[in-house]
Amino acid sequence: MNLLVTGSAGFIGSAFVRMLLGKPMSSSVLPQVSQGDRIVSLDLLTYAGTLENLKPIESDPRHQFVKGDIADPKLVRDLVREYRIDTIVNFAAESHVDRSIAGAGPFVHTNVLGTVNLLDISRENNLKFVQVSTDEVYGSLGETGTFIETTPLAPNSPYSASKAAADCFVRSYHETHKIWCVTTRCSNNYGPYQFPEKFLPLSITNLMRNKKIPLYGTGKNIRDWLHVEDHCEGIWLALTKGKSGEIYNFGGFGEKKNIDVAYEVLAAFSRKPDEGLDFVADRKGHDWRYSMDSTKAQNELGWKPRWSFEDGLKSTLDWYKSNIAWWESKIPRR
Ligand code: NAD
Repeated sequence: MNLLVTGSAGFIGSAFVRMLLGKPMSSSVLPQVSQGDRIVSLDLLTYAGTLENLKPIESDPRHQFVKGDIADPKLVRDLVREYRIDTIVNFAAESHVDRSIAGAGPFVHTNVLGTVNLLDISRENNLKFVQVSTDEVYGSLGETGTFIETTPLAPNSPYSASKAAADCFVRSYHETHKIWCVTTRCSNNYGPYQFPEKFLPLSITNLMRNKKIPLYGTGKNIRDWLHVEDHCEGIWLALTKGKSGEIYNFGGFGEKKNIDVAYEVLAAFSRKPDEGLDFVADRKGHDWRYSMDSTKAQNELGWKPRWSFEDGLKSTLDWYKSNIAWWESKIPRR
């Protein structure tokens, strides 16, 4: 297998590459590529991507990193030809909702135009294509209900709108051009190497700097948490066991109110709740609740998460405590 992994210097893409090359956080039972396989990493190294995330595998001869834009047709065509790529796994994205509210342009460029470029090149070269998407494309739930793969798309943020647009293009290339593709949709990921603008690493690194945890609105919005390695294993299963044209949901069976996650982080730092929370004005268009039904991935791919939230949170906290230089360099200076 000759894989092109895009967005490989970001949080989830780098975890996927480390896993496939035998350097995961947890156990050796996770999937790995074999000795004859090759992984080409393509990443633009935006603010969210760093080669530090690929350090554990930098000397592996099966891996080659290339800096560049997924929306660049010549670059991607040349890579596919030079490395005889047979499969693309697309993690590359602008991924932060707050940034998409400030300006949607980069989201349209990478998440929509970039994905369409990869689809065109997949079509021309008969490649397999995996689109890594999100539960946010389904919109928001009230206190009840859950998302299944046929739930209509109802994105509420410019970020989720760009991801939903990309998912629709993937579907259309399957229907129109008959390309081999699967789309994975996942709930909130957590784990090591996550950029400290996202809720969990922001909470951890703020407490490590004697600051508070910022909570939007009442803090009662509900998210479903999945460890990044469980997500990566699901993506691999979707690629190797999935059926072309299908969508697979991955959730963590761990719905929690944001404020309860904050309490768990505070408790790990022996801080009292009333000292550690900072309620801030709610995010515009803030989705209330996400909930993923992963029955299809369990039944058809044999997937199940290995990490409990309790163990995953502890190991993530330990990672941020042991890797201060990694995250300190990413905190904006005021
Ligand atoms: P991230 O922001 O940590 O990483 C994105 C990576 O893409 C970065 O390394 C960045 O440099 C790279 N990139 C951006 N624009 C690029 C371009 N034009 N060309 C090449 N590379 C480019 O994001 P993440 O959290 O690792 O998310 C990866 C994927 O998973 C995204 O598609 C996201 O929508 C999806 N997803 C994320 C979550 C989550 O909780 N983080 C949940 C579900 C789905």
